[in-house]
Amino acid sequence: MQKKLLLIIGSGLSGLSAGTYAQKAGYNSIVFDKHFHPGGCVSFWKRKDFLIDGGIFMLMGCKPELRSYQVFKDLGVGDSNLYIPMKEFGTFIDEMTGEKFTIGSDLNTLEKNLKKIAPEDTAIIEEIVRVIKDIKGKDTASIGMSLPPELNKGINKLKMLWEARPMIKHMNKRYLQSMEKFTENVKSESLKSLLNGIFGPKAPTLFVLKLVAIMASGHMSFIKNGCQTFISKITDNYKSLGGEIRCKQRVTKILVDDNKALGVQLANGTTVKGDYVVSASDSENTIYNLLEGKYTSPDIEYIHKQWKPEESYMLATYGINQDLNNEHTINMLNLKQPINYGDKQITSFLFRIMNYGDFAPKGKSVIQARFNINWDYWNKLDKDKESYLKEKKRFANEVLERLNSHYPGIKEKVEMTDVSTPCTIQRFTLNKYGSASGWGTTPECLAKKRNRTLPGLKNFYMAGQWAFAGGVLPTIYSGKHVIDLINHNY
Ligand SMILES: Cc1cc2nc3c(=O)[nH]c(=O)nc-3n(C[C@H](O)[C@H](O)[C@H](O)COP(=O)(O)OP(=O)(O)OC[C@H]3O[C@@H](n4cnc5c(N)ncnc54)[C@H](O)[C@@H]3O)c2cc1C
Repeated sequence: MQKKLLLIIGSGLSGLSAGTYAQKAGYNSIVFDKHFHPGGCVSFWKRKDFLIDGGIFMLMGCKPELRSYQVFKDLGVGDSNLYIPMKEFGTFIDEMTGEKFTIGSDLNTLEKNLKKIAPEDTAIIEEIVRVIKDIKGKDTASIGMSLPPELNKGINKLKMLWEARPMIKHMNKRYLQSMEKFTENVKSESLKSLLNGIFGPKAPTLFVLKLVAIMASGHMSFIKNGCQTFISKITDNYKSLGGEIRCKQRVTKILVDDNKALGVQLANGTTVKGDYVVSASDSENTIYNLLEGKYTSPDIEYIHKQWKPEESYMLATYGINQDLNNEHTINMLNLKQPINYGDKQITSFLFRIMNYGDFAPKGKSVIQARFNINWDYWNKLDKDKESYLKEKKRFANEVLERLNSHYPGIKEKVEMTDVSTPCTIQRFTLNKYGSASGWGTTPECLAKKRNRTLPGLKNFYMAGQWAFAGGVLPTIYSGKHVIDLINHNY
């Protein structure tokens, strides 16, 4: 019997995952991507002798003893030599108090350090450390991900609740509110900035505390040599299973007949027919452009009108002629003097010293700063190339000045500077507002089920950060979910 063919739009993690599971389940598959190499948000590029890692800072759940390790194995990246366990979440450098400490796995030390910067907030510090300690050591990275929500019924639902039991006790109003709200009564600005900087102010408090617990459990890693190695292994594995990737092929239309998806049309005018179409790309573009808005529902309309994409990242990367390999990898800088842009301010930012792979020639280093930054600001500037480039340059210089005060002399040793903005991410991935992880991580967005099929449309599925949740682990699972749903005739 002829194998059925899946046409997958997007070669990000979710598209490659859907393709991998399709091949394993006995289907044929073709992945289309508009870009010239696969990976989507898991991006990388070269400038001079330096490798710029444009994605994944830290990876959850890729430890052999965890439930989620199986999906890494399935995708061809279940090799522990690929990962470097994070011993610390990062170093907090507080220009306000002059304190500098590392957030590591020892939670008593963390409590002591937090009390040093915020003695007036002792009660809340003890409370959050208590919750983190409670979650620490449990397998929480992939809770609720093993099956598509649509199949979470009966015995499967019980299994999911069993997975979720380390968290259930804390799923109450207090910890489900955003970090911004939770910290409203925190007195110390330094503590407020630290807690809101871990995953942004809109994320539910429990989600942020869970991240710290995952790190403290040793369940978070760096990828040795970064995104390039990770995505090329996943791609090779997919191809070795018989999968096909067609780059530089933008899908402009999903072909439908009798309310059944049966193919895709490409920008060059050709069409490709298949048995199923899977969109592993931006959901707004998929639903309202590729499908011309013919298959929606009040729920889908609500999401696309009311929800905001996760604020995107701006990355400023520097190649420096100095060996910084012995410095801490991830750092959060709480600024005394904010960096101004438009009528807004950046009061803190994360930066990483890329000392876990071959990112720079021997004796040199790469430092990369990351900001959450507003799409509108860059989008407006992007209309005028000269102003856009000028502002990129201003940012690069200003950030370098700030870094230089902590690593004196580096600004004289810069050999390469690269700045990417949300517009860059949007151009390369077509994600709305250049979002780095789909819809914003808000309490509502985490709680609400999103459909992976569209009302009235057969043989069509969605995967990826817009259809399930952002981040490496959820997007990989979302590709697997598509095959679970097809196999269940959902
Ligand atoms: C800078 C950055 C840092 C990040 N850091 C982390 C981290 O530390 N940890 C973590 O877990 N997650 C991180 N993420 C998030 C994570 O990388 C993403 O959530 C995930 O990779 C998204 O995968 P995806 O397959 O859903 O979508 P994408 O990666 O966006 O892939 C979609 C693909 O579809 C293609 N496409 C779109 N439309 C079309 C079309 N019409 N025709 C053809 N192709 C099309 C695009 O070119 C793209 O390749 C980060 C993201 C960014 C950008």
